[in-house]
Amino acid sequence: MQIDSSNSRRAQPEGADSAYRVPVGAILLVMTIAGILSQLSVGLVEAWLMSAAAVALGAAAVLLRLPRSSASAGTLAAPALPTTPLRPSDAEVILKARAVELRSEERTKLLDALTDAVILVDEHGEARFANEAAIERFGEENTVLGTRRAFEQLPAHVRRGVLGLASCDDAARRRFEFDWRGDRHAPVVVHATRAESHRQALVAILMRDVRVEREADRMKTEFVSKASHELRTPLSSLRAYAEMVADREYADDAEHDRFLRVILSEADRLSKLVDHMLDISRIESGIARANLAETDIVSLCRACVEEQQGEAKRRSIALALARTTAGATIPADSGLLKQVILNLISNALKYTPEGGRVDVEVDFDGLAREVVISVRDNGLGIPADALPQLFGKFYRVSGHEKVAKGTGLGLNLCRNIVEGMHGGKIGVDSEVGRGSRFWFAIPAEAMLRKAA
Ligand code: ADP
Repeated sequence: MQIDSSNSRRAQPEGADSAYRVPVGAILLVMTIAGILSQLSVGLVEAWLMSAAAVALGAAAVLLRLPRSSASAGTLAAPALPTTPLRPSDAEVILKARAVELRSEERTKLLDALTDAVILVDEHGEARFANEAAIERFGEENTVLGTRRAFEQLPAHVRRGVLGLASCDDAARRRFEFDWRGDRHAPVVVHATRAESHRQALVAILMRDVRVEREADRMKTEFVSKASHELRTPLSSLRAYAEMVADREYADDAEHDRFLRVILSEADRLSKLVDHMLDISRIESGIARANLAETDIVSLCRACVEEQQGEAKRRSIALALARTTAGATIPADSGLLKQVILNLISNALKYTPEGGRVDVEVDFDGLAREVVISVRDNGLGIPADALPQLFGKFYRVSGHEKVAKGTGLGLNLCRNIVEGMHGGKIGVDSEVGRGSRFWFAIPAEAMLRKAA
C-alpha cells in the first residue's frame, strides 16, 4: 500500500496549517489572473487565459501534493504566473497529475469509509496518514501527521513489532491483540504490514475493534456451558432410575412402574431440550426459513386450545378461546406460530394453580396494523425483576422449578419465531399473585407486502 501522506485532507503537520492553505494558494492564483485580465484587452489574452486556467488547476494539484517538508514551512505563496503560453506536452503533464490526484482522493475516501482505524507510519513511527476511524480512535491531537503521537498510544510490544517490521527487508506482517486503553477499553486486533514508498520503509497499521466478536464468543461459550449443565440434570436422573430398575431396587410393581414413568418423563424432557436448542440455533444462524402463507389466526388459536384441553382438565383449569375480534388472516408460518401459542398455553397451565383459568384472545390493533394474540392466566405471576431476563436462554424464575419442570428455552424460542422469523414482537405483563398476560403481535400489512 502506498499512500502519499500529503493527500490526506487532515494533513496538518505540526506547527503549520499548510494543508488548509493549499486552496488559498490556488484561489490567490485565480484572483491574480482575474486582476491581470481586467487590465488587458480580451482579444489579446484569450489564448493566455486558457493556459493560465490550466496552470491554476495544475498548480492546485501540485500544491495538494506538496511533500510535508515544504508544507510544514507554513508559507504557501501563489506560484508565479507563466509568462509564455503552455505547450501541449505541459497540458498533458498537468492532466496526468490531476488524474493521479483524483485517484489518490478516491483511495483516501475508500480508507475513510472503513470502520477500522488505519495509520501509516514511517521507520521512526511518525504518522504519514490516518483515516477518519483512526482520528476518532486516537484523537485528533494524536493524529497530527509527521509526529509519533499516534504510534506512542500503542503498547510497547506493538511499537517494537512495528519498528522491527520497518527495519526488515521483506514484505512482512504481524498480528497483535490487546485491550485498547483509550476511552473505550475495547479488545482490539492490530495488523501491521510492511510497505515501501520511494525506497522509504513504511508500516500500515490497521486496528479493528473486536468487541462484538468477543461478545459473540462469550455468548456461545455461555450457551454451551448452560446447555451442558441442563443436559446433565435429566441424564443423571435417567441413569439413577435406570440403575434402580436394573438392580431391582424397587419394593413392588407400583414402584417399578413409577421408576419407569420417571425415566420416560426425563427422556421427554431431554428430547424437548435438544429440540429447543436445535430450533433456536437453526433460527439464529439463519438456516431455518419461515414458510409464510395466509393463516387464519383464529382457527389456529382454536386448534391449539383444543389440543391443550386435556391437559387443562387434568389440572382443573378452565381454558378457553375468550375473544376473537380480529377474524383476520395473516401471512405466517402456521407450524411455527402454533409452536408459540402451544408453548404460551402450556406455560400458563404449568404456572397456574388448580381451579384457575387461562384465556386466549385475538385482537386486531388497527393503529399499529398488527394482530395481537394474548394468553392470559390468573396464576403465580412473575416478579418485576425477573421480567427483563424472561425471554433469555435457560432462564427460569427462582422457585418455579419446584412448581413445574421446564427447559428455560421455550420463551426464547417463541421470541426467535415471532421477532426473528415474522418481524413481530413479544412481551409480557405480570404481577405476582395475580397472573400474567403473555402476548405477541404480528404485523399485518408489512407481512402482506413481504409475502407478496
Ligand atoms: P420453561 O420450560 O422453564 O417453562 P420457558 O422459557 O417457557 O421455560 O419459561 C421461562 C420461565 O418463565 C419459566 O421457567 C417460568 O419461571 C416463567 N414463566 C413462563 N410462563 C409463565 C407464566 N405463565 N406464569 C408464570 N411464570 C411463567
